[in-house]
Amino acid sequence: MELNERADVDTSQIEDRRGGGGGGGGMGIPLPTSGGGIVGLIVTLLAVLVGGGFGVNAMTGGDEPADNGAIEQSCDAADKLKQLDCRNALYVNSIQSWWEKRLPQSFGEQYSEAPTVFFDQAVQTGCGAADSGVGPFYCPADHKVYIDLTFYQVLADQLGASGEFAQPYVLAHEYGHHVQSLIGTEATMRRQQERDPGDANALSVKLELQADCYAGAWAKNATQTADADGDPIFTSITDQDIKEGLDTAAAIGDDTLQKKSGQDVNPDGFTHGTSAQRQQWFRTGYDSGDPKSCDTFGTS
Ligand SMILES: [Zn+2]
Repeated sequence: MELNERADVDTSQIEDRRGGGGGGGGMGIPLPTSGGGIVGLIVTLLAVLVGGGFGVNAMTGGDEPADNGAIEQSCDAADKLKQLDCRNALYVNSIQSWWEKRLPQSFGEQYSEAPTVFFDQAVQTGCGAADSGVGPFYCPADHKVYIDLTFYQVLADQLGASGEFAQPYVLAHEYGHHVQSLIGTEATMRRQQERDPGDANALSVKLELQADCYAGAWAKNATQTADADGDPIFTSITDQDIKEGLDTAAAIGDDTLQKKSGQDVNPDGFTHGTSAQRQQWFRTGYDSGDPKSCDTFGTS
């Protein structure tokens, strides 16, 4: 994968809430499993396993307001592509510019942009307080993606997914949840969960696999995406990148994570799908390049 040095980074799609010292106030860990996190269970120091949807934590304390001054400056510099945050901002730009065109074509709905919030350690969100330990997630209540960029180090060191393409895959998965929120898939699925609590996890798996499939569909089209001036964002995406995407999907499958945390594999506890399923649906999206192929709810 190569990013284009001439592409401008649109940092207005990022809310930089890192640093600042204030931190989040709350230390709650309401793991937004079915609410849009990339991992159902993450192997951190705590190896927390949390089920269900968003925990509702009281919003304690004020969060640091976004301050994009530093990121604007560094993403304007000549060495911007060496910066993790600028590369991630470009991934966000590419994913959103693709959906901007694709959502109306495929689903007849207008796309509306969602910012990605970069945070350190803990953050207050429209879905409650969250801690980095939960991994990246999408909050449907405020329509924002949240990520502590140190997650990629966890992914590499603890989960064995060290390829660079893990990063756009993770972000494209979260934006898949944004699309599910925009077109009503997520709300429909929540109503089904309420009607059929016994199927709640199985429904969550379908939602998650669809987000993986959307990530694959974006990956197929990513080299066609461009910045505001029309400069392509990517100059290449190779088979190796797709392999890294598939490796990441495998690394964060529910069965693999359960084994890694020393648990027995328990299919009833799956919320995101097995490694094989996650790979399969990323591949389905990639092979077709068409989000309409991502009908995980229509298949058993
Ligand atoms: Zn997810």
